[in-house]
Amino acid sequence: MANDKSNYLSVKLRNMTESATLAMAQKARALKNEGHDVIALSLGEPDFDTPEHIKDAAKKALDEGFTKYTPVNGLPQLRNAIVEKFKRDNDLEYSADQVVVSNGAKQCIANLCLSLLDEGDEAIILTPYWVSYFDIVKFAGGKPVAVKGGIEQDFKVTPEQLESAVNDNTKMIIFSSPCNPTGSVYTKDELIALSKVIEKYENLYVVSDEIYEYINFSGKHFSIGTIENIKDQVVTVNGMSKGFAMTGWRLGYMAGPKWIMDACKKVQGQFTSGANAFGQMAAAYALTSDMRPTEVMAVAYLRRKKMIGELLSAIPGVKVNDPQGAFYIFPDVSSYFGKAAGDFKVNDSNDFAEYILTKAHVALVSGAAFGEPNCVRISYATSEEKIQEACSRIEKALALLN
Ligand code: PMP
Ligand code: GLU
Repeated sequence: MANDKSNYLSVKLRNMTESATLAMAQKARALKNEGHDVIALSLGEPDFDTPEHIKDAAKKALDEGFTKYTPVNGLPQLRNAIVEKFKRDNDLEYSADQVVVSNGAKQCIANLCLSLLDEGDEAIILTPYWVSYFDIVKFAGGKPVAVKGGIEQDFKVTPEQLESAVNDNTKMIIFSSPCNPTGSVYTKDELIALSKVIEKYENLYVVSDEIYEYINFSGKHFSIGTIENIKDQVVTVNGMSKGFAMTGWRLGYMAGPKWIMDACKKVQGQFTSGANAFGQMAAAYALTSDMRPTEVMAVAYLRRKKMIGELLSAIPGVKVNDPQGAFYIFPDVSSYFGKAAGDFKVNDSNDFAEYILTKAHVALVSGAAFGEPNCVRISYATSEEKIQEACSRIEKALALLN
């Protein structure tokens, strides 16, 4: 094409994959706009609105004049609230100068990778992983190393697997628990076992993404940063998007060793500056006030999880685990690979997601984007009626595959 200038884009950019979650959400939106009755289970976004008391706090902050630039690492009011929250919920002891507030947890992760990784440094990504880890690591110049836990081990990685992947070039380990896309939760004992490997490598840093902390059906959340022998190697990442239904507010935060936080502040200072002022005041209020709306949402997710787990496991050839957190389920659908309905052949999880979107008008995301091409990710952050209808449509569409 004469006008195709894509070769002029940076090599870094050309090596970057578009976010599969956002791409699928966009596709679902486009089909909906064409008038199709699409059930979108593609985007990991609470269907609840931000609780009223948090919105009121933002309105008050606006009226009080919180409309200016903020310190790059966040308003002191919010960083103090984060310190208090970490102590209250996680037994984590951080000071306010060890906290950085960013435009979403996504930016925290980007800041960390840009601050820590040099060309050729390896970053171990516990797999299945959240889509963006892989490309952020690559963009920062690092080499992503996927270490995979299969469905038979509840998608979790063992210390032996970790040990055999670590080498002198390994600078970072990154994972989410509760996990996007599997919903799996590493137990305290499992994290302690992993820490025994990590403690042997003093220049290895753990990025512990705990953004689904409040959606944990297995009991009280455990933070790897509380493990004494590795606590100076851990950065704890969290954010307002999931637990408080504040995805559009773009507020995430992290805490860790001060020298790493100072580096992240420097990166963020050049890229975006401090996050929005009145939102930060509302987040400070959210973290230190009534947690009941968050608990009510978690109860609804648990009900939906049970429902979708039962409905999916009743479909022939669909294998599920029992996720203990977040709002995703990650069924293994590989028994359908190689089958076809008419002209449509399902060769892999990308085709599977495409087939379900086209035939059933249900949007889900291919597991390939999360490093597990036997699976697809389904977000059940939607109503029970929609979950029921979506599963029934999926079952009917799959019955046509031979
Ligand atoms: N980490 C994980 C595991 C996620 O699922 C998400 C979802 N968007 C994020 C980080 C980023 O969240 P946000 O940027 O909205 O804070
Ligand atoms: N984290 C969500 C997801 O996995 C939101 C989309 C995104 O930020 O990529 O669907």
